[in-house]
Amino acid sequence: MLKPPQFSEEVKPIIDWIDKYLNNIEDYPVRSQVKPREVFNSIPDQMPAKSQSIASIMEDLDEKIIPGVTHWQHPNFHAYFPCGSSLESIFAEMLMATMGVQGMIWETSPAAAELEEKMLDWLKAAMNLPTSWKGVIQDSASSSTLVAILTAREVKTNFEANKKGVPNNLRIYCSEEVHSSIEKGAKIAGIGSDNVVKIKVDQNMAIIPAELEKAVNNDLAHGLKPCCVVAGFGTTGTMGMDNIRALGEICQKHDIWYHVDAAYAGTALLLPEYHWMIDGIDLADSFVFNPHKWMFTNFDCSCYYVKDTAVLKKTFEITPEYLKTNTEEHINNYRDWGIPLGRRFRSLKLWFVMRGYGLEGLQAKLRNDIALNTEFVNKLKQRNDFEIVVKPIFNMTCFRYKPEGFDNLEELNQLNKAIKDHINDTGQAYITHTIVNGKYTLRFLPAATYIEKRHVDDFYELLVTTILVVH
Ligand SMILES: *Cc1c(COP(=O)(O)O)cnc(C)c1O
Repeated sequence: MLKPPQFSEEVKPIIDWIDKYLNNIEDYPVRSQVKPREVFNSIPDQMPAKSQSIASIMEDLDEKIIPGVTHWQHPNFHAYFPCGSSLESIFAEMLMATMGVQGMIWETSPAAAELEEKMLDWLKAAMNLPTSWKGVIQDSASSSTLVAILTAREVKTNFEANKKGVPNNLRIYCSEEVHSSIEKGAKIAGIGSDNVVKIKVDQNMAIIPAELEKAVNNDLAHGLKPCCVVAGFGTTGTMGMDNIRALGEICQKHDIWYHVDAAYAGTALLLPEYHWMIDGIDLADSFVFNPHKWMFTNFDCSCYYVKDTAVLKKTFEITPEYLKTNTEEHINNYRDWGIPLGRRFRSLKLWFVMRGYGLEGLQAKLRNDIALNTEFVNKLKQRNDFEIVVKPIFNMTCFRYKPEGFDNLEELNQLNKAIKDHINDTGQAYITHTIVNGKYTLRFLPAATYIEKRHVDDFYELLVTTILVVH
C-alpha cells in the first residue's frame, strides 16, 4: 500500500505511460481486436492476497488490458459520436481524483457547487441559450432526459405521481429517429414505452410538425394526457434536426413539457453562425448537451438546462434531517436537481477546457472538423458510385457505396456492411452505420480531438481500397 510521500517516485511510470500513449496512439488498432472473454480469462479468479507493485500492475496493463481497449481518442475513430478528451480535461480529472470531492450539497464543497453554476452560465452565454435558464451537470444525456421526463410527469400530474404512483395515460412524443434514451426514460419513469408516440419524419429526418399535432389531438380525443415532447437537435443516426420553433408552438398550445435533446450537436452552438438553428429555443422547458461528446471534456459531463428550476427541485427534493443546512436560500444543493445524491466535481473539467482553449480555440476546432467533413463529402461526390444518403450537417456524413446499375437493396446493404466490417477489422479506422429508409448507411464523423486532414485523406484511401477488395 502506497503512502503520499511515495507519490513523486511511484507516479513516474504512470506519467511516462500516459506520455507514450498520447504520442503513439496511432500505433494501436482503433477498434479492439480481442475475442469475447479473452480479457476476462486472462485475469486471475481471485484478488491477490498480498500487495503487488505498481510496476507489475503496469506490466499487465500493457499485456492484458490494452489489447481489449478500443481507442476512442485515436484520430481515426470516426464511429458513433466521439467521446472527447483533451490534455486540459485529463489534468482536471487527475486533480478531481486527487481531491476526491463528493459535492452532493453546497456545504460538502462550496467551490464545486459555485463553479458548476458559473460554468453553466458561461456555456449558456456562449451558446446563446435563453438568459433566464439555469443549468446543472448530469452524468449523461440519458440521465438528463430522464430528469426532463420525470419533471414533465410531475408537472402534468400536479406532483401527484411522485406520491400516488404514475397514471397510465401520459404520452411522450418524439421522432422515429430520436435516441433510445427517450424510450428508456419513459420506461424508468413508469410512463411505459407503449406511451411513447413516434412521429414520422420528412426527407431531412426532421419531425413533420403537422403529424405531431395530429397525434396530440388524437390522444386528447381519446382521453390521454400529452406530457412531453422531445425534439432532436442532431439525432444520433443521421444528425436530424427537428424544427425547434414549430414543435415548441405545438407544446405551448397544448401545455406540454418541451425537451430538446442536443446531446452531440449542442456544442455547435458555440459557433454563432449556427444560432439561427435554435430559433424558438425560448419555448423549450429543458435542454441537454454533452461536453463529453464534441467539447473535448472527458466522459462524463452532460449539461442540463431548465427554464423553471422550482418545478425541477420540487420533483426531486427530499431533505432528511442529516442533510439540512442553514444556507438553503443563497446557494444550490444540486442533489435536488437530479437523480443521484452523490456528485463528482465535474465543473473543474469544464473550467480547465474553457480556459485552456478559450472560446476562439473551441470555435476554431469545431470549424476545422466541419471543414474536414465537407472535404470528405466533396471527394465522395467526385465519383459516381457513392450516394450521400442524408444531407450532411456539421461534421457527419451518411453515405453508402452504390455502383451504377446496382439496385438490389438487400445486396447493397450486404455490400456496405462488408465494407464497414472490413475497414474495422483492419484496425486502421473505425466507423459505424445506421439504417435510413431501409438503406444500410455508413456514418463518417471526423471529430477526434487531434484529427488532421491527413487522417481524413487516409480514411478515403482506405475506403476506396476496401471497395476493391470487397466488391
Ligand atoms: C449520445 C446521445 C444520447 C445519450 O448520451 P449519453 O450521455 O451516453 O447518455 C442521447 N441523445 C442523443 C441525440 C445522443 O447523441
